[in-house]
Amino acid sequence: TTETERPEIERILPRIHARYTPLRDGQLADYIPELARMEPDSFGIAIATAEGHQFSVGDAERPFTIQSISKALTFCMALELAGAAAVRARVGVEPSGDAFNAIEFDPVTRRPYNPMVNAGAIAISGLLHEVLGDAAFETVLDRFSQAAGRRLAMDEAVYRSEAETGHRNRAIAHLLLSAGALTGPVEPALDLYFRQCSILVTATDLARIGATMGHLGEQPWSGRQVFEVSAVRDTLSVMFSCGVYDYSGNWAHDVGVPAKSGVGGGILGVVSRQLGLATFSPRLDARGNSVRGLAVFKSLAAELGLHVFDAT
Ligand code: GLU
Repeated sequence: TTETERPEIERILPRIHARYTPLRDGQLADYIPELARMEPDSFGIAIATAEGHQFSVGDAERPFTIQSISKALTFCMALELAGAAAVRARVGVEPSGDAFNAIEFDPVTRRPYNPMVNAGAIAISGLLHEVLGDAAFETVLDRFSQAAGRRLAMDEAVYRSEAETGHRNRAIAHLLLSAGALTGPVEPALDLYFRQCSILVTATDLARIGATMGHLGEQPWSGRQVFEVSAVRDTLSVMFSCGVYDYSGNWAHDVGVPAKSGVGGGILGVVSRQLGLATFSPRLDARGNSVRGLAVFKSLAAELGLHVFDAT
């Protein structure tokens, strides 16, 4: 952000927030009972730049569970901690066009299509547990916290709710085991997965995490290298092609920014070398993406010229 762009962001954010506040389409995720208790009309937007500037509007400090957005970050960590080859042996990088909870593997490799859907993410959680053992969740929480720049915590009630009702994810884990994409026991992999999904963040936290990724893994405020450079590159690549469930092709076309959404209502976007942006609004469309989040990202990308293939 140059000195000319800063006032522009400050001017645009409240306008876009006001424009989409009346948009009340969509439903709360209710397949996890605890998620149905969210305040449905919460709405926050945050931007953080690689140079350390921050902007926000609305409920940008209201906590919600990170859910599937964690998948991008654990993938990034696994690339570094287990190595790219070990990661690629467990999970592909191919968009599946399937829903987040699809029980579908690549018929040729017998691996989950990509790490942004549940099957791929549970395989990655298993790999992280193999490498880190019982310290896995603490390590994950620690790394997410370093990227956000504050100590994050887990929502116990959501975690218990996920663990008690996650039968489909359990089924996926057993299929992973039979296909060789999980090698250890399923329970620690699932436990890490349920826990990582239940980490509480705000839109501001996500924007700062995005700024860290956009800054090639170096947290702009602490100067600390939180993620490895090559792991960030690989993660942004799968976020670009697979980050918003079975809407990923439309998103790449219309928004043109690597992103990851979660059923808690958050969306994290990264403009490489420039900024992280995040929205929070828990009403979801049929594919599990935040309705207002989608609208905000489209508008912001257009007004700030964020699409990777924009001419200007
Ligand atoms: N914990 C959720 C699940 O696995 C994550 C879903 C999501 O955000 O897509 O069902």
